Amino acid sequence: MKSYTEYLTFNTPHRRDYINITDTVEEIVRKSGVKEGLVLVNAMHITASVYINDDESGLIQDYDDWLEQLAPHEPISRYRHNRTGEDNGDAHLKRQIMGREVVVAITNGRLDLGPWEQIFYGEFDGRRPKRVLVKVIGE
Ligand code: ZN
Repeated sequence: MKSYTEYLTFNTPHRRDYINITDTVEEIVRKSGVKEGLVLVNAMHITASVYINDDESGLIQDYDDWLEQLAPHEPISRYRHNRTGEDNGDAHLKRQIMGREVVVAITNGRLDLGPWEQIFYGEFDGRRPKRVLVKVIGE
């Protein structure tokens, strides 16, 4: 069995950003040489997510509005977590609902995604370098 690992780093210009990383993951799968297997993609920080959904600007804004309704960034005093001096209590909650990782099947050396599925990095406390692990395993 082959395995291949890369770490991606994101430093987003905004507190919250949603980045389509499908092509990057596909390129890593190509480099790995794996034709049949799995790729794991996970956020390595507890205030960011990796998730799969459609790449549609209205939908991304809908996600952002929905997450802000569920866990508004402000007032930061509403979160007990922020009594530590941090201001990212909301980002921990946003990460929880959007998930930590995705696993995608590799078939014939390609990501075997559904028709509209795209892989996203969801950032909820950006403007600093944060990592994503990509691990490919298979034959
Ligand atoms: Zn925190």
